[in-house]
Amino acid sequence: MSERITRRVEVFGRVQGVGFRPYVHRIATALGLDGWVANVDGHVVLVASGRPAALRELVTRLREHPLPLAAVRRVTVSGAPADGGGVRTGFTVRPSRAGPCAAPREIPPDAAICGACLGELFDPGDRRYRYPFINCTDCGPRATVIEDLPYDRERTTMRHFPLCPACAAEYADPADRRFHAEPLACPVCGPRLAWAGLTGEEALGAAVRAVQGGGIVAVKGLGGYQLVCDATDAAVVAELRRRKRRPAKPFAVMVSGLTAARRLARVGRGEREALVSPQRPVVLLRARPSGIAPQVHPGTDHLGLFLPTTGLHHLLLRELARPLVVTSGNLSDEPIATDDTAALRTLGPVADGFLTHDRPIRARYDDSVVRVAGRDTVVVRRARGYAPAPLRLPVAAALPLVGAGAHLKHTFTLAEHGRAHVAAHIGDLADAATYEAFEAAYADLTRLTGIVPRAVGHDLHPGYRSTQWAEALPVQHRIAVQHHHAHVAAVAAEHGLTGPFVGVAYDGLGLGDDGTLWGGEVLVADLTGYRRVGRFARAPLPGGQAAVRHPSRMALGYLHGLEPLGVPRPAPWLTRPFTERLAAREAHTVRAMIERGVNCPRASSAGRLFDAAASLLGLGDTVSYEGQAAVALESAAGDLHADALPWRLTRAEGLWVYDPSPTLTALLDALAAGTPVAQLAAAFHTTVAEVTAALVGRALSAGAPRTVCLGGGCFQNRRLLADVGRLLRAQGLRVLTGHAVPVNDGGIGFGQAAVASALLAREE
Ligand SMILES: [Zn+2]
Ligand SMILES: [Zn+2]
Ligand SMILES: [Zn+2]
Repeated sequence: MSERITRRVEVFGRVQGVGFRPYVHRIATALGLDGWVANVDGHVVLVASGRPAALRELVTRLREHPLPLAAVRRVTVSGAPADGGGVRTGFTVRPSRAGPCAAPREIPPDAAICGACLGELFDPGDRRYRYPFINCTDCGPRATVIEDLPYDRERTTMRHFPLCPACAAEYADPADRRFHAEPLACPVCGPRLAWAGLTGEEALGAAVRAVQGGGIVAVKGLGGYQLVCDATDAAVVAELRRRKRRPAKPFAVMVSGLTAARRLARVGRGEREALVSPQRPVVLLRARPSGIAPQVHPGTDHLGLFLPTTGLHHLLLRELARPLVVTSGNLSDEPIATDDTAALRTLGPVADGFLTHDRPIRARYDDSVVRVAGRDTVVVRRARGYAPAPLRLPVAAALPLVGAGAHLKHTFTLAEHGRAHVAAHIGDLADAATYEAFEAAYADLTRLTGIVPRAVGHDLHPGYRSTQWAEALPVQHRIAVQHHHAHVAAVAAEHGLTGPFVGVAYDGLGLGDDGTLWGGEVLVADLTGYRRVGRFARAPLPGGQAAVRHPSRMALGYLHGLEPLGVPRPAPWLTRPFTERLAAREAHTVRAMIERGVNCPRASSAGRLFDAAASLLGLGDTVSYEGQAAVALESAAGDLHADALPWRLTRAEGLWVYDPSPTLTALLDALAAGTPVAQLAAAFHTTVAEVTAALVGRALSAGAPRTVCLGGGCFQNRRLLADVGRLLRAQGLRVLTGHAVPVNDGGIGFGQAAVASALLAREE
């Protein structure tokens, strides 16, 4: 008889809720090993006995982890336990055990319906034919149903649905695709659709007829309610905008598959991969002329498309055979509705009917949004499918800590050791319901991960509710992180950078360390600190926040109140056509405010300069969401080639300062001369890119490092990102930007966590 050895193997990473135990069972059985596998707390433990070569092979395969949803981070092998590990003949899957929290606990994100389940969904011979809640170990709900770890059915919202004999047999059969598929369900034992008094197919039929009849239907999705209507029906899309109080922000459109997607937009290879990935995000694509109602994405040539996430989505699309608007079930900036009663109340005035079901949603996960740049997927909104999978921190957190986040597009980040869990996108904290959703998500994620923060990183702005929350948190260390440092630190940390770099933060507004508002900043930084070396010129924000909603006010701010830097502002004859276009009273009042400095905070913001330029070009005097004017400017520019307008750098307060006076003068001059708006929009982008390269160049001449991190909401602008990246790379620089972590304020919590970790490590 050949030699037999016994080994204990522990696998760490995202290994629960992804079919890992069945996978181990399959390999071990095939290799003729005896033993068992179990989920223990946050990781997987197995004891295997057999030929040394077979054991080696097992460990190799585990390390290579070919499972689609798993992420193996570490595999440890030790000798046989003293008691022999309880190995009997054959290989078994043991029930889970909650141990002392020695291992990190990873919550698996939700995964979109897999190909095998989709095949069964439309197979009349299958017992799950047309069953909306079909799933298996490779797909289905996870983070949205998990109540506690270890991940087992009894600790998910599926515990309300005892398995029928057929499902129980699949669950217990190691050879079955649904072996230990925790959210396993079928028409006999699983959740059921409901619409008013109808259930099942009748409920689905009623919802389909409602959409066909030009109605708006609330559909209970994975991580919250969604609002659904016909994307080709201009009247219903306009009505949805009115009812949802969302005048202009683009809606996402769901289509049945890639062929349908290609009819509506240009789909490149990376984009195709993102569309069909298990994360199944909304992918921002360049729209083609199609039957989509123009009200779906006003003011931009980009269209957010995604493919069905669940069996229910597939059934709806199959019946309706048209692209559907599928958008978050909320009003304006409120959090997406998850609770059935609350959904009825808040979405009652919006929806003509509710297609719901009896499986509770445990955690709120909005749809994620990405775009594709070359080979990289760039996450714009990190939520369903991505969150809360951990990202690596370059400097491990010496204490468990939390990055409290910013104010808009809020998320927080929990960190422990080298891992950072970026929580799902929550929304704008000014809204009371969103703030409550933040507190609920925080309570949930701290409990699930077992991370109890002893330090907090927060914004400098005392008015942010996240800052006030951080101040009240019972922790030992409170670390204030400047907003734009957090932006560029998030980029650096994502790429594992610990050394110094040049940070370019182009953003809306964030409080600077000098008490003024910042947003067009060049910093020389590392994770522990920064030195400001360049900035955009400061302009007044007439009326403060009101200026963000009214780019025309920003334009007046730049024309009449830009900080004097030695170049005259645009001459009155050039500005007159613009001011005359505005309501006389408004223009007069704003000008008086600027001249007297009444309620005119000053900001060095790149985002606000984009707003002003857009307004001067007639692309938006008033907006309903931040960045709308800049989106219009980017769309107008398209791919047009244009030379830069004049620009100038000057020295002030020991910094290099971009003075946009010559740029704005030239812009108005060319506009008056009849240059097309598209040409000027393109020229404006080229100008800001050249200015950026020059500001970075000045920093390099003063000895700055040759790695540049681009962060802040303005870098969601593809054209700007591409132009700046090209010019910097041409100087031989390494250029980094956010991929897994959003460059917008959704990345601030991660940046704060990275800075706080680095500062705590330095203290030690
Ligand atoms: Zn499946
Ligand atoms: Zn069943
Ligand atoms: Zn920001």
